[in-house]
Amino acid sequence: MELVPHLIAGEEVESTSGARFHTVDPWTREAWADVALGGESEADRAVAAARRAFDDGPWRRMGFAERGAILHRLADLMIEHTAELAMADTRDMGKPITDSAGHDVPRSASNFRFFADHARLATGEALPMDSGHHAYTRFEPAGVVAAIAPWNFPLMLETWKIAPALAWGNTVVLKPAEDTPSSASLLGRLALRAGMPPGVLNIVHGFGPDSVGQALTEDPRVDRITFTGESATGRLIARAAAANLTPVSLEMGGKGANLVFADADLDTAVPWSVRAIFSNAGQVCLAGSRLYVERPVLEEFLERFTAAAGELRTGDPKDHDTQLGPLASEEHYKKVRSFVDGIEADGGRVLAGGLGDGWVVRPTVVVGAPSSARVCREEVFGPVVVVQPFDTEAEAVALANDTPYGLNAMLFTQNLSRAHRVSAALKAGTVWTNCFFIRDLRAPFGGVGDSGIGREGGQFSREFFTEPKAVVMAISDDAPPAPSGPTRSAP
Ligand code: NAD
Repeated sequence: MELVPHLIAGEEVESTSGARFHTVDPWTREAWADVALGGESEADRAVAAARRAFDDGPWRRMGFAERGAILHRLADLMIEHTAELAMADTRDMGKPITDSAGHDVPRSASNFRFFADHARLATGEALPMDSGHHAYTRFEPAGVVAAIAPWNFPLMLETWKIAPALAWGNTVVLKPAEDTPSSASLLGRLALRAGMPPGVLNIVHGFGPDSVGQALTEDPRVDRITFTGESATGRLIARAAAANLTPVSLEMGGKGANLVFADADLDTAVPWSVRAIFSNAGQVCLAGSRLYVERPVLEEFLERFTAAAGELRTGDPKDHDTQLGPLASEEHYKKVRSFVDGIEADGGRVLAGGLGDGWVVRPTVVVGAPSSARVCREEVFGPVVVVQPFDTEAEAVALANDTPYGLNAMLFTQNLSRAHRVSAALKAGTVWTNCFFIRDLRAPFGGVGDSGIGREGGQFSREFFTEPKAVVMAISDDAPPAPSGPTRSAP
């Protein structure tokens, strides 16, 4: 088996202890890659390398155009190497190859292109002041960024963090999820080939608690922590970061509500609703896992929805016909299975789907479960949707908002006023109307409640990955002279 090494200070290295672990291909259920197992020592070396590259290296001193050219070159190389990058994610976590090659890799490359251009074209504010002074804003790189990523969209979510951090002149230590290290290592190699100076992008592999992940979050030399993963992990990271007052951006779990009103165009609502819960085998933070349907169309909707779900092809994710692969790991499969096994005891009924072979869970539709059932309240992170009826708009909004999460919600209606009214009333970072998953990288992305702290995307990423600075200067003879005594300063 090939070794997946760390990347520290521009060198591909093993851990000082020589320790390794392996990742398992969830379709074959066999180990397929040997991975360097990092610990405190690797976190320390990687942060030191990133610190040196930030403090003494050329990266933050380069112009936006020069840095941007390197990031564009990296994007070109990623597209050239789509097949390897896509296969790495597919083998690591079972994502269908058509998704990893057709969506995740191109989108990851476009993360670099977008943030490179966004930084180059960004403007600051000029604030002419009546007093004969002039203030303007500068956005200076924050320093060393620790980026901690999950396994469900490995390359895509890693680049969503790395790209803006690098474009704004920071240096980065990336810790991919332990189940999905392979594409990150290929990315690191491509970054060096694109001309990224050593130490600008460092990658360390290993686990979170009491391991390399935790060590990164506790390191006082780290200036920003950007994390995507479970809400429980986010709480631990926020606690660790608090000790050093390190700013954190937390993108966490979700339990997305999907509201289908009786006036919806079902030709639109059904396929989007299927996609919303079953793409990536439901392992999507944004999954529309709570489906609320207005009673007059419940029967017709359910019939069409279960039929479409039943047509999805499960199987080997390397096969181009497969639409749902296995779940990402044995541990995760057992977690999802425990939800499926508990549905009847919780008062629900499996209308379609259920467990498949190996670590496959077929598209599963649950009806009759009370809102208090575990499957209705907790994030399953698998292809399992609960369907409930509603009778009024107010009831639909109340059901949708009855969750500690608030990442996203969807609604299907042809009533324009309702679309605006309900979008405003929903507790969520993103609301989609008559569509799902459509993203503009300039838009804020993040959640409320247990779904997150902060927003990333466009200028929101700039705010997180930079230190905004106000520069105030006297520009005219009208500016009052310096006072002779001590001054009172206004905050
Ligand atoms: P996870 O929280 O288990 O792990 C995420 C990362 O954190 C991994 O790299 C892990 O090693 C690391 N980690 C774990 N404990 C740590 C600690 N104490 N200190 C530092 N690092 C630690 O999450 P996961 O299972 O990989 O991902 C699934 C979760 O991610 C789901 O809840 C999903 O909703 C969420 N998610 C959210 C978004 C979003 O944008 N909001 C996107 C994708 C996934």
